[in-house]
Amino acid sequence: MEIIKKSTRMKSICRSISKKGKTIGFVPTMGAFHEGHLSLIRKSKQLSDITIVSIYVNPAQFAKGEDFDKYPSNITGDADYAVKERVDYLFTPNSSDIYPSGYKTYVNVEELSSLLCGVSRPDHFRGVCTVVLKLLNIINPNFAFFGMKDAQQALIIKRMACDLALDVEIVVEPIVREEDGLAMSSRNSFLNKIERTAALSLFQGLTEARSMIEKGENRSEVIIRGITKCIDKHPQNKIDYICIVEPETLLPLEKIKNKALIALAVFVGKTRLIDNILIER
Ligand code: AMP
Repeated sequence: MEIIKKSTRMKSICRSISKKGKTIGFVPTMGAFHEGHLSLIRKSKQLSDITIVSIYVNPAQFAKGEDFDKYPSNITGDADYAVKERVDYLFTPNSSDIYPSGYKTYVNVEELSSLLCGVSRPDHFRGVCTVVLKLLNIINPNFAFFGMKDAQQALIIKRMACDLALDVEIVVEPIVREEDGLAMSSRNSFLNKIERTAALSLFQGLTEARSMIEKGENRSEVIIRGITKCIDKHPQNKIDYICIVEPETLLPLEKIKNKALIALAVFVGKTRLIDNILIER
């Protein structure tokens, strides 16, 4: 495996891979790998000849006061994982390469970016789209892999790829969870023991919602109340939002008919965690 820092070098390597007729799978990440990241890498290995993984903690998607400065980082550990998973190239650009002096261009996917997480993080998806488009332009992959853990992000990236006629297939993979159900996240490492227990209530709330729906409940308000009760049992938790929405538009559903995305964000202590489940009846 080769570690590449410069985008010019990454671009020329990718050009020569494509010229040889080989397909490229790309997994963009912010590092501190866990099984969620590895599942995307494994999918890329299945579908593509060459797998490229990027590690870049993108300042443009963090607001002032968020955890950009303390975001977990473990480049050597990540590189070891990447070697084990037979990643071909690890791309680790720095900010002067991604946002060189004079940088002025940002990409925004309207409407979808201002719902759910966009309410409390208004510029977050603008930052995500900007960096993802830039990375896609450098690498020009056949496939790019994203996790359903960030369901809104995956939807927005798909929208961007379609709207801007990007020549890439966006592949979305299921959420990987710890044995007890907590969705894996690099931010879980911030949780102390009590917070770790409190964090489990996100999944428990979603599981409770699924069982209410299976028993015939379809009113979003009632289901959201059930999830809230479960999460609010823990004083460490502060709910940012719990929403039941149409999965393609993210618009709120009063009643669940066929498909629904139940998505939530909760501060567990100072750590903001997200989770979701997709309901298909
Ligand atoms: P991050 O490094 O957190 O930006 O995540 C990089 C990619 O991994 C994103 O596409 C995430 O949606 C995905 N990802 C993060 N956590 C999980 C998980 N628990 N299961 C599946 N994919 C995940």
